[in-house]
Amino acid sequence: MVKNKIKYLVLGAGPSGLTFAHSLLDQGISKNEILVLEANAEAGGLCRSSIIDGAPLDIGGGHFLDVRKKEVLDFLFRFLPREEWNSYNRIAKIILRGQEIDHPLEGNLWQFSKEDQLNYLESIAQTGSVRGETMPESFIEWIRWKLGECIANDYMLPYNRKIWSMDLNLLGTYWLYKLPAVSFRETLRSCLEGKASGTLPAHGTFLYPKHYGYGEVWKRMGKALGSQLITNCPVRTIDLSTQTINGIYQADTIINSIPWTHWLEMTSNLPEIIRENIKKLVNISIDVDYQQNTLQTKAHWIYEPCGKNSYHRMLIRSNFCPGSRGYWTECNAMRSLPTNGFRHHNEYAYPVNTLEKPKAINIILEWAKKNKIYGLGRWGKWEHMNSDVAVAEALMMARTLTSESIMP
Ligand SMILES: Cc1cc2nc3c(=O)[nH]c(=O)nc-3n(C[C@H](O)[C@H](O)[C@H](O)COP(=O)(O)OP(=O)(O)OC[C@H]3O[C@@H](n4cnc5c(N)ncnc54)[C@H](O)[C@@H]3O)c2cc1C
Repeated sequence: MVKNKIKYLVLGAGPSGLTFAHSLLDQGISKNEILVLEANAEAGGLCRSSIIDGAPLDIGGGHFLDVRKKEVLDFLFRFLPREEWNSYNRIAKIILRGQEIDHPLEGNLWQFSKEDQLNYLESIAQTGSVRGETMPESFIEWIRWKLGECIANDYMLPYNRKIWSMDLNLLGTYWLYKLPAVSFRETLRSCLEGKASGTLPAHGTFLYPKHYGYGEVWKRMGKALGSQLITNCPVRTIDLSTQTINGIYQADTIINSIPWTHWLEMTSNLPEIIRENIKKLVNISIDVDYQQNTLQTKAHWIYEPCGKNSYHRMLIRSNFCPGSRGYWTECNAMRSLPTNGFRHHNEYAYPVNTLEKPKAINIILEWAKKNKIYGLGRWGKWEHMNSDVAVAEALMMARTLTSESIMP
């Protein structure tokens, strides 16, 4: 029997759902018209942290706050004020050819031996993109075309094989537009001058809480919602004919930040075409493993594209969590080896940008919108997005929906 009628029912209390709910309150929507349902005991989603071996560990992987979006920072500082964050100039490394090279690779090829520099330069001079060749459609050929054989074969392809652990030609290329073009001239100059070239990557400077893990800001945001957030409350059923969740919450508008793939089990009356398109959405799972030895490096994180280790990234927490020791690793769960140490399994870690995804998610979102259901965040949009982007999008969606609802 339906217990509650709710104007805005938010599924999931990760950064997207939490921000959306707070932003509604900021728009003057009454508390009684908002409810967030979360499966876990704590808010924060992939951005949660736990205390492991006496210090914080981000159980969803390494999480750092980008400092570029003022609106997002102002919003987050309401919950964890600026003075509770440390700012770092990022040091990220890549293990390649038996040595640690600064990230991004294309800007730091000068750190290799002269012979290796020559090989990279020769390969960059011959890239298809530089020579004006037609852009290929397959992922593997696209990477070679854009970055040259050497960067593709030494780094980009092995790294992508590790993280996705699937046939790379099932991936689209539409999401690679952010990869910088590698300029032969700039790379040569960098090798001759012995210093980095190129633009600063994301997280050139980042913020990380002084005394907590990254999860603290979201935990506080959840707490501030009070009874508007129900934790330990997995969404199990959605009746589309009445917009009723778990048989007790009837929603006017549903904000979905949980994986659409869950809807296959939860909803018996999904149209067949939506069901078919949801089945096209793919995600990968990541295991986060803690290691207690402290590595002798200044890096905050290190990528490991090849090599004997199954993981693809190490997060050196002793370099960004004051007073901590050890590091953690991120590994595609299909490659993970058994462990006796701390492990957190993230079933939904990365949405995969397959060839089929853009069309499938568009069909799902268009159908959903007609039913006053809105996809939000990493799983609602099935998009790689960092938490700052998730926050920015949730702020925007709350503003848009509330202004639409007061239109005559
Ligand atoms: C390895 C890794 C590294 C990352 N590094 C960074 C970084 O450095 N900086 C950064 O800003 N971002 C980073 N991100 C991205 C960041 O984690 C996401 O942007 C952010 O978590 C997206 O928030 P969300 O709310 O959309 O999704 P999520 O955080 O996934 O939240 C979804 C929520 O829905 C809940 N849920 C799921 N199913 C149900 C159900 N049936 N019923 C109720 N609730 C349910 C989940 O428990 C979860 O709380 C990283 C992500 C990964 C995987």
